[in-house]
Amino acid sequence: MIHDLHMHSTASDGSLAPADLVDYVAERGVGVMSITDHDTTAAYDALNANGSITIVPGVELSTTWMGRGIHIVGLNVDRNNTTLANGLAAQAKARRSRAKLISNRLEKLGLDCPLDAVEAIAGSSAVGRPHFAQRLVDTGAVKNPQAAFRKYLGAGKPGDVRNCWAPLELAVRWISESGGTAVLAHPAKYGMTNQKLRLLLEDFVAAGGRGIEVVCGPQDAATTRRLGMLAREFDLAASTGSDFHTPAQPWALPGSFDPLPRDLTPVWTLW
Ligand code: MN
Ligand code: MN
Ligand code: MN
Repeated sequence: MIHDLHMHSTASDGSLAPADLVDYVAERGVGVMSITDHDTTAAYDALNANGSITIVPGVELSTTWMGRGIHIVGLNVDRNNTTLANGLAAQAKARRSRAKLISNRLEKLGLDCPLDAVEAIAGSSAVGRPHFAQRLVDTGAVKNPQAAFRKYLGAGKPGDVRNCWAPLELAVRWISESGGTAVLAHPAKYGMTNQKLRLLLEDFVAAGGRGIEVVCGPQDAATTRRLGMLAREFDLAASTGSDFHTPAQPWALPGSFDPLPRDLTPVWTLW
């Protein structure tokens, strides 16, 4: 049975509404899924049961560790848990004050980017730099989103504002206190050396982290071996997921990834 425990809906930056996402994933032969939107569990408010698939409540938290952005997937969480709900509210507040700061900086440059206009573009999803890029295109300030990032939003530009995400240790605690399993998301995508990744995993495990995404979307066998080795070394359960956002990215479709190495403990056996 395929477990796809990492994907996004319109509650964050995915393109499918939660109910449509569930149908779409079920049609692709996945047996167990989790919608893990960025810093929100709102997708689960809009969900009806689809008898053909098991849904594990989840979330993907943005965190900071040693000045870097690290993503932690929380699986099998109780989304009504007060600690988790308060944590998510704090993340939303941090995201909004960052958006406010980006808006102020762009307006100071004479660009027409009031926060409410950018929020209208974002709709139900949380405001981020892609929405500012869209606003800059819509108002004719730049030709396309790429140019918006190059001139105003990318690294070192006025709109490049750091987020005040929760420290990794705190985010792991929110997940654990809600009864969930904290899983380090897409470890190969941080561009870290094995030595750095080990330091991260030491802190993650000390904070109560229990799992690691050994397979995340399409990846080569060497990466799977490398992450499998770290799972064994740190005695972590192994997770699998696509990190699906949209059918427009056909290289990361739900359920399209290699199985776990056989000797690892699948994270879903913990529940
Ligand atoms: Mn995303
Ligand atoms: Mn991520
Ligand atoms: Mn993701």
